[in-house]
Parts: sequence; C-alpha cells; structure tokens
Amino acid sequence: MKFIDLEAQQKRIKTLIDQRIQSVLSHGQYINGPEVGELEGCLASYVGAKHAVACASGTDALLMALMAYDVGPGDAVFTTPFTFVATAEVISLLGATPVFVDIDPHTFNLDPAKLERAIEAIRANDPSIYPLPRTDSLFPHHSLPSAKGVIGVDLFGLPADYDRINDVARSHGLFVIEDAAQSFGGEYNGRKCCSLADIACTSFFPAKPLGCYGDGGMCLTDNDHLADVLRSIRVHGMGTDKYNNVRIGINGRMDTLQAAILLAKYQIFPEEVELRQRAANRYAALFREKAGGSSNFTLQYVPSGAGSAWAQYSILCRDGEHRNAIQESLGRGGIPTAIYYPKPLHLQEAFAHLGYRDGDFPVSESHAKRIFSVPMHPYLHGEDQERTVDIICHACGC
Ligand SMILES: *Cc1c(COP(=O)(O)O)cnc(C)c1O
Repeated sequence: MKFIDLEAQQKRIKTLIDQRIQSVLSHGQYINGPEVGELEGCLASYVGAKHAVACASGTDALLMALMAYDVGPGDAVFTTPFTFVATAEVISLLGATPVFVDIDPHTFNLDPAKLERAIEAIRANDPSIYPLPRTDSLFPHHSLPSAKGVIGVDLFGLPADYDRINDVARSHGLFVIEDAAQSFGGEYNGRKCCSLADIACTSFFPAKPLGCYGDGGMCLTDNDHLADVLRSIRVHGMGTDKYNNVRIGINGRMDTLQAAILLAKYQIFPEEVELRQRAANRYAALFREKAGGSSNFTLQYVPSGAGSAWAQYSILCRDGEHRNAIQESLGRGGIPTAIYYPKPLHLQEAFAHLGYRDGDFPVSESHAKRIFSVPMHPYLHGEDQERTVDIICHACGC
C-alpha cells in the first residue's frame, strides 16, 4: 500500500507524457518554451486568476511574491507556525521577521481572530496582547518591525478563512499571500484556491495534488502590475530584456520539460480532484460507521463552503502516546503514515533567533504532538481504506 501512488497515475497518461516530452526534445526550447506559456494559460483559467507566472518551485513562488512587495529588514510578515518551513523561511531569507500566529484547532489553519491580536501587539509593541518575537538583538532599542503582510496557508489542501483574513489585513493596510502549495484544486465559497488573496503561490513538487517530475511552482494574481513585477523578478529583475536589469531578481524559471509534464497531468487533474474527494468521503464515512462518537481522535474540520484538495488526510489523536501506538499498528499492517508536522516552526532551531518559547502557540504545539496522516491519493482502494480505519479503531479500542 502506498502513501501517494504516482505510478497508477503515470500508467493512465504515459502516452500523453511521452508525446509531450518528445515534443520538447524536438523543438529544443528547454527554457521558456511554448509549454510554459500554455501551462500558465490553462492554470490561470482553471483557478479564475488573471495572471499566472510559472517558476522553479513553490519556495521560489513565495520568495518572488514577497520580493514583489519589497519585503525586507524592518518588515513583519504574519504567518502560521504549523506549516512547512518554506512558508516562514522566505520571510527570514529577505531579512524580514516572521511573526507567528496560532492556528484554529479544528481547521488547523491560521486563526483570523489571533491574527488581529498579533497585528495589534506589533503596533502597540505590547507582547501582553499576543506573543511576539523576543529579541533585543534583532530589534535594537526595542523597535519592533512594522506590519507589512500576511501569508495564509491552505494546510493539507483546505483553504484558510480568507474572507476574514483579507478583512483583517485590509483594515491594517497589509497585503495577503495565499500559500496554496497544498491546495491546488481546492475551493472556498465558490472560488478556487489560488485565487483567494493578492498573490497565490503554489507548488508542483511531485507529492502535491498537481505535481511534476521535479521541482516547479507558480504565482497567480489578478493584479497587472504585480504580475509584471513577478515576471521581471523571475528572470534576474529583467526590464525590456534580460540584459537590461531594473531590480534585483532571481533565476526562478520553470523548466519547459516540467511544464510539458504538468500539461499532460492537467488532462486528468479535475477528475483526480473528484477521486480525492471521494476517497476523503469514504474515510469520513468509515470513521463515522466504525468509531462514531469516539473522542479518541478527530478529523480536520471542513467548513461549509470550503472544499479541500486533500493533499493529506490527517488525524488528530487524543495524545502523543496514542499517536505512536496507532502509527505502530498501522506500520505492522503495512500501511504507511507520516507526521505533518512534528515540530512547529517557532520551536525550530532555524528560528531560535526570534526568541519564541514553548507555550507561545499552544494549539500548534499540541497538534504537532498528536497529528499524523494516512495514505491519500486518487487511486486509493476502498478495501485499503477500510483496513486502515479498522486498524486505527482497534488500536484506539473504539
Ligand atoms: C511544499 C510546500 C512549499 C514549498 O514548495 P516547494 O515546491 O517544495 O518549494 C511551501 N509551502 C507549503 C505549505 C508546502 O507544503
């Protein structure tokens, strides 16, 4: 049994992938080939965004988005500590300060009410309102960085609450970036993920809902000016051509071969989103049937109006010991599991300079100890899901 089954997917579209790759080998435009523009057009129209800017990875997409807003030293960017490191890493890479905001316990996403408090705390330089970075060396004379933007993360494919996040951000004059690395294919109140904030950033890492055969990413936005700036940043801050440099940029281009592979996979992507939803529904029904009413574990809450891309199917256990016991039972049964994420970012050594402490973000800390993910992909068999749920319920004694 596989955690993510890329082979089953490849079997379905092997001919198409081979044709697409052959076509790139024939035209030989390995950088900026026609497939890149074709992919940008397809995916922009799929999510309902005006512009798509393909790039080399999800991390580059986030970096380029922050660079488009001129984020740098002295700027605070608010985000969740319960995410993949890249979300906050790019903030630090630009010399800005990640300011963490705890998650909602049910959706596992950035809590808009806590975001409001964190912004007020920064504004008032008052950590009694909300936990702030504690570093005199970073902020000499106690001058805290000023609030500049927010990165919401659509964890496991479930969109964050952008109606409220955008409202809070707008009332304080902050930009909002949607880290949609896990949520391509998800939905929120009738709109698609990747269209829910000023700029959305997604990833085509192989294990994401839409993955290529290497690294890839994309920025999506409705803003004409930001799209121009993103295209410039992607190629070393180019102006009218690449030997006319108008700003500091990066080498953030997507390989033509990866765009070609994504175009082949896109042919079956909408169907795969439905298959993931069907697998998620089946898990939920099995848990209801076999463990209805048990308080030994809970599932990620999907608010009405939201649709997850189901990058991961995660289960929150009663406590850490319980989680270990369940994972061991599943492992003995040949069912792979993973933990996203075992340590929240504010407690990672990489962010030690921010001076955060255990206890600052209790929901993220508790979830990191109790969560784990079970196999999820479009080609999951019902019998395997049933066996997974049986083993979990048996290990829980429910
Ligand atoms: C995967 C991921 C990224 C980074 O994407 P890469 O393509 O691996 O660089 C960023 N944020 C989140 C939430 C992710 O899951």
